[in-house]
Amino acid sequence: MTTDGDAQADRLAELVPRLRARGYRLTPQRLAILEVLAASRGHPSAELVHQRVRVRFPTISLGTVYKTVELLREMGEVLELGFTDGSTRYDGRRPRPHPHLVCRSCGAITDLDLEETRTLPDRVAAMHGWSITSHRLDFFGLCPRCLAAGAGDTSLDPNEQGGPTWQR
Ligand SMILES: [Zn+2]
Ligand SMILES: [Zn+2]
Repeated sequence: MTTDGDAQADRLAELVPRLRARGYRLTPQRLAILEVLAASRGHPSAELVHQRVRVRFPTISLGTVYKTVELLREMGEVLELGFTDGSTRYDGRRPRPHPHLVCRSCGAITDLDLEETRTLPDRVAAMHGWSITSHRLDFFGLCPRCLAAGAGDTSLDPNEQGGPTWQR
């Protein structure tokens, strides 16, 4: 059985040599950014990564976080989830496209493991003769915690393109 700690260590062990191979200088600050990304299940924003790294490195700038995340995104090592309100969240644990559950009230984002969706890109490509390079599948609604807390807005406006409005 693998624990979360193991998964984080494994992910770091993948990322570090790939970044070094790109000539990227792994300062302790940058390593801390990778550690937060490899450990976070909650799909943090760059601002949240910055907050967490700042606990250990108070002088680190948000710009350093953005640059590191952007490099990882270019390398295909972080999955970027942009929303229509302009907010962006990141998955550094699983960089390949996968479906998510997104809470409209608190902004929680959870990975969704569905057998069907793993073969979906290949099926879509075969059906339409396209070459599929990426895909996006999000389910928006209210998480159990927000439901229990009586969070409102269960309305589903078909014109509303889904956008978390929070930062976490
Ligand atoms: Zn919620
Ligand atoms: Zn994810």
